[in-house]
This record gives sequence, C-alpha cells and structure tokens, in this order.
Amino acid sequence: LVLFEDAKLRRAAEAKAATSTATSSPARKGWLRRWLEPQGAPIPEAADDAEVARLRQDLASTREYLQSVIEQQEAANEELRSASEEILSANEELQSTNEELETAKEELQSTNEELNTINEQLQHRNLDLTRLNDDMTNLLGSANVAMLSVGIDLRLRRFTPVATRVLNVGPADIGEPISRMRWPFDLRDLDALLAEVVETVQVREREVHDAAGHWYELRVHPYRTSDNRIDGTVLVFQNIDAIKSSEVAMRESRDFSQAVVETVRDPLIILDAELRVLGANRAFHQIAGGGEIVKQRFYEIGDGRWNDPELRRLLTEQRPEQDVLIDFELRQEIEGQGSRVLLLNARRIARRDRGRELMLLSISDVTVRNQLALESRRHIDVLSEADRRKTEFLATLSHELRNPLAPLRHSLEILRLAGGDHAMAEHAHEVMERQLQQITRLVDDLLDVSRLTQGRIELRRERIDLTETLRQIVDAHRPTLSASGQELVDRLTTEPLVVDADPVRMTQVVENLLLNAAKYSARGTRIELETESEGGDAVIRVRDSGIGIAPEMLPRIFDLFMPVDPTLDRTGAGLGIGLTLVRSLVQMHGGSVEAQSAGVGRGSEFTVRVPLAPSAHVEVRPKRIAPGRPRRILVVDDSADQAESLGLLLELIGNEVRVAQNGVDAIAAAAEFHPEVAFLDIGLPGMDGYEIARRLRQDAGLANLFLIALSGYGTDEDRRRAREAGFDLHLTKPVLPDRLRSALAEIPEPPPTAEA
Ligand code: ADP
Repeated sequence: LVLFEDAKLRRAAEAKAATSTATSSPARKGWLRRWLEPQGAPIPEAADDAEVARLRQDLASTREYLQSVIEQQEAANEELRSASEEILSANEELQSTNEELETAKEELQSTNEELNTINEQLQHRNLDLTRLNDDMTNLLGSANVAMLSVGIDLRLRRFTPVATRVLNVGPADIGEPISRMRWPFDLRDLDALLAEVVETVQVREREVHDAAGHWYELRVHPYRTSDNRIDGTVLVFQNIDAIKSSEVAMRESRDFSQAVVETVRDPLIILDAELRVLGANRAFHQIAGGGEIVKQRFYEIGDGRWNDPELRRLLTEQRPEQDVLIDFELRQEIEGQGSRVLLLNARRIARRDRGRELMLLSISDVTVRNQLALESRRHIDVLSEADRRKTEFLATLSHELRNPLAPLRHSLEILRLAGGDHAMAEHAHEVMERQLQQITRLVDDLLDVSRLTQGRIELRRERIDLTETLRQIVDAHRPTLSASGQELVDRLTTEPLVVDADPVRMTQVVENLLLNAAKYSARGTRIELETESEGGDAVIRVRDSGIGIAPEMLPRIFDLFMPVDPTLDRTGAGLGIGLTLVRSLVQMHGGSVEAQSAGVGRGSEFTVRVPLAPSAHVEVRPKRIAPGRPRRILVVDDSADQAESLGLLLELIGNEVRVAQNGVDAIAAAAEFHPEVAFLDIGLPGMDGYEIARRLRQDAGLANLFLIALSGYGTDEDRRRAREAGFDLHLTKPVLPDRLRSALAEIPEPPPTAEA
C-alpha cells in the first residue's frame, strides 16, 4: 500500500517535468491538436521550393507522429483513467480488507492471549508430570519388586530397577517382544497368559522359581488407561522365598504332627468348639467302629458311647487353662471286650488365623495297664512277703546249721577222752551220726529246693512197689522214733502198689512227712503210716496226734520258707522247706498231697496220692548191697580233709588207696599205682576233673580203670559232661557211706586178660 502511493507521487512529478513537450491537461491537448491540423495558409515562397517541400514533408511526418503520440496519449490517458478507477476500487477493497485484517488481528491477539494461558497451563502440567514421573521412578525404584509393563503388542515398555537384576532385562529390551526375552523362569506360555489377562481383565497369579531355587509369585495385572482402556499388562514378580520356606516349614511341621498323630497308638481326635469332629487318627477310627465321624458331634458318634454328661460339661466349659481334661476316667462296656477303663485328656489349640479354638482329645485304654498295676502290686506284696520269709529263713538256717555242731564237738571231745571206754565211744558215735544225718538232710533239702526253683530236678522213674519202699522206710526209722519215745504204727497193704516213680524221691517224700510227724508230736504219741489203693491212685497217709495245724494255716504250710509259727521255739520248728519239697516232688510224679487237721493240738494227717502204673509188673532190685572185693583206688580232691577222710573210709572197708590233690600228682600216681577205680573231684584248680579223666583215658595201661566223678552239682548237663570226659559214674557230694559201698559193688569186673 505504501509502494502504490509512492509510484503515484513519482508519476506526478514526471508528468510535471514533461509539460514542456507534452501535457496531459485538456488545455494543452487542444493547443497541440490545433497545431497538428493541416494549415491552409501557404508558406511564403521566399525559400526554395525543394526546401519547402522537404519541410512540408517533415512537418507532415511530424504531424503524423504527433498525431499518433496524441492518440497514444489519449489511449494511455484512457487506460490511466480506467487504471485510476481500478485503483480506486482496489483501494476501497484494500480498505475493507484492511478493516478485516484489523479485526483478524484483534482476534489473533485474543487467541494469542489464550494460547499464552494454555501455554502456562501446559507448563504447570508439564511440571506436574515431571514430578509424577519422578515420584513414579522413585517409588518403583525403591520398591524391591521386579515389575514390567508390557504393551498390548506384547512388547516391553518399562521395568523397575529390580527387574534388571531379577529378570535380566536392560534398556535394550525396551520395545522388544517379551517372548524373545531370556527369562530365568520357565515362562513358555507367558504370551498366552498375558493375552488372557487382557481379555478377561482379571489378575492372574502363578508361582515360578529360578534355577537357584528362588521362588517368585508372578502376578499379571491388566494395564488400564485413564480412559479405562486395557492397554497391556503389568507383570509383578514378588520374591516369596520367605513365604515359601515358611510354607515348607509349615508343611513339614504339619506332616510331622500328622505323622505323630497317626503313629500314636492312642486314639486321637480333633474337635471344634461345638464338639464337632474335625479329624481323627487311625487308632480312633479303629475304636470308633466304622461310620462317618467327621463333622458329627463327638457325643453322638459311636451310638452315643461318649455321651457322658460330666465329660460334655468339662469339654464345653469356658476356662482359661489350656488343659481341658486331665486323665478323665470313663468306663465303658465294649462288646467282646468287656469292661474297659479309658483315660481322656484334652487340650485346647489356639489358632491365630481363624480365631476359633480346636481341641485335641486323646483316649487311652488303661484297662490292661490298671490290671498290670494291680498285678504288679500283688506281685510286689508277694515278693516282699517272700523276702521277709527268706530273711526269717536265713536266721532259722544259721540256727539249724549251728545246732548239730555243739553235739558234734562234744562227741569228738568225748571220743578223745573216752580212751578204752567202748560204751562211751559208741554213744558218741551214735550222737555224731545222728547230727551228721541232720546236717546232711538239711543240706540235701536246701540243694533240692534250689534245684526245684530252677526246675533242675529230674526224676529217675522206675517201676517199683511203693509198699516195699515204705516198708524199707519203716524199718529204717522205727528204731530212731522209738528211741525218742514215739511209736510208728504201719498199716501197709499186703498187695503191691505198683507205680512208675523215682524211689529215692518217693522215699524223700515219705521220710519228710514221717519226720515232721515225729517233730511236731510229743513223746509217747503214735505215728501212723498207711497205704491203700484208691481210684487208680496209690494213697499214703501219715497221721500223728501232735500239735496240729490251725485252719487258717492249712492252705499255706506247703509254701516255701513257711514255718507255721515263726515265734515257736526254733529248736522245734524247721526251715519251712520240707513240705514245699514234698508237694513239688509228688506233683512231679503226677500226684497230689494235702494236709488235714482238726485244729491246734488235735494232730495232723497228710495224704499223698500218686497214680498207679498201668500194668503191675515190677522189676527186681537188689535189696542189700553186697560188699565188693578189695580194689586199688585213687582219690583226687584239692581239699586235703575230703581226700584224706574219703581215702581213710575206703581203706577201712578193705581197699588199697592213694591220694592226690591236683591233676599232675594224680596222673603221676595213676601211672605208678595202676588204680582200678579213681574218684575224681571235678572242681580242681588248674587241671579240672574232666581234663584228668580225659588224660587217664588216653593211658593204654589204664584201660579197665573205672572213673567216678565227685561233684557238688548233679544236673543232667553235669552228668552228660562227665560222660563225655570218660567217666563211668557221676556222684553228687556228699556221698554217704552206703552210696559209696553200692557204687563200688556196681563196678563191673574187667574181662579176663590173656595172661590171667
Ligand atoms: P519245717 O522244716 O518247718 O518242718 P515243713 O515245710 O516241713 O518245714 O513244714 C512247714 C510247717 O508246717 C512246719 O513249720 C510246721 O509248722 C507245719 N507242719 C508240718 N508238718 C506238721 C505236722 N505233722 N503237724 C503239725 N504241723 C506241721
């Protein structure tokens, strides 16, 4: 617009300058036209005609030229005019445009202002965003959790710093498909999982572990934009090692307690606060007797066998103690098992998680235990009674052992002083023999009792006539009894009473009863011995009219160490083993023994029954021992007294004797003396009796030597060992003279040698 005005001004100036030659004003135009129009007046003929012609020519052409110029001028003017008009209209347009522009400018200005405000707002928001970003970065950075944001295109968008460590992701992975990532976990179906989360808009969880055994919980959340679109997923990897290990520990402890519960023999049951059964171990199921019990009320199961009002009250009572029941005793009748005594114990188990308390109830069947306790209490009573009796017995024993010693010593002294007084010596001998017999009997009984209690007595049964055995006993004891002023009356059957019995043991039984009868009766009384055959049994009765037995004592007199009245004068009472032996020996024969008495002071009667033998055939036994011929005998015993006394005795009955006190001497003596019989003690220091026997047996010069073992022990095992070592006979100490004689008599004669 400014340029336009400048051009107008310049053109005006140029037009002013050209006024001298051409003018555009209408006045000047008129002048020029007139000039150009052909002049009628002739030019003076003063000038050459040619010249004039030329001039006329020039003039005409100038006129023409001017004419065209004028025409051009006019055309130009015309144009100028129209141009001017155009300019004017253009000017007007410009003016209106200008006005429009003005308005537009104003609008722009207001828009600009608005933009400024928006700009400011954007700047604020930008600041906010930066802060938000910082917040987020800090939060995610300090959260010790590996998180990934994955776009809907399944490409990694973002991750937290921890993810770098846990998941091996780095900045280079951003924008990469997550399927291409090298996960430390087995996540082959991750794409499907993410797609599922996007589709269902549900959080999905799963547990994964890496090669090092670290456990993570992977939670996949849908990524929700502010306009509630799902634009991918967020993966959160939470380390759950601690949870896992506590879970493992919990599982282990649960397994452990379960195993304990199952292993326990006692029935166990878990109840809730309403006494509903939550679980029970095998042992409980066994006693519950089938049927569903879980969820049932404890007192309703098993046909209400646990429905005890007191038990229910205690179980439901609210008390602060943990122990709800302690040894609650419940008696039940159980089919096929009778009356059972059950002990119930219950304990509360507090649970933190669900608040409700549980109860562990254990049931122990103590029926057997109670019975055992009762029994063992009874046993203890019996044992302490036995112990008391044993103590008493020992006192009696020492008394009994010492008793015969005084008369023995006195008799020895009498023998020494008697000199030639035969009657006196004879009397001393009798006393000594009696006392010795008493001691021997005592020791024999003791040994027998000890063997009996160990079950080591064995019977040597043979077919015998019991009447004959009893007759021998009567013959042997009648003199002694009459010496003490008692009469032995025998009523023995005339026909034989044939039994399969050990004659020695049967003799022992009857002698014991006879001697008791004598012991517990006064002088001048009679003792009766009878036999009879009754109902397939041989019956022996020993009756006296002595002190009798109180009725309450009758059942106990056969017990071991059981003298009826311990306060009795000890000289009268015995050790209380005789009747025990009697009963055991009779029972071993398949028989029985019983005592009867009308009471204290009214005498006693003992009845022995042994079964008669099926057939009545009796073997013939030699009655009297024939004295043997004189022999060369070697006696070996480490006790000088025993060796010497046995040797002396053997010499007195007519034998030639050598004595040795150890194995070496024995073998030397045998080599030189050539004995026919050797008595060898078994328990010798150094070389024992068995060894000596073996060596002697190897000596060809002693082929006919008869070897007799002398031992304190007489079990079958001892006899077997002796036999194996080469002994011909085994005798138990002490060997009484009669046995010695019979043993010698039994020795077979050697076969006659070629020389003889
Ligand atoms: P003891 O060695 O005491 O005689 P026993 O076992 O032979 O032992 O007898 C046990 C107890 O029985 C005796 O202490 C005695 O009190 C009683 N007794 C045994 N036989 C008779 C009897 N014939 N008359 C009265 N009491 C007897």
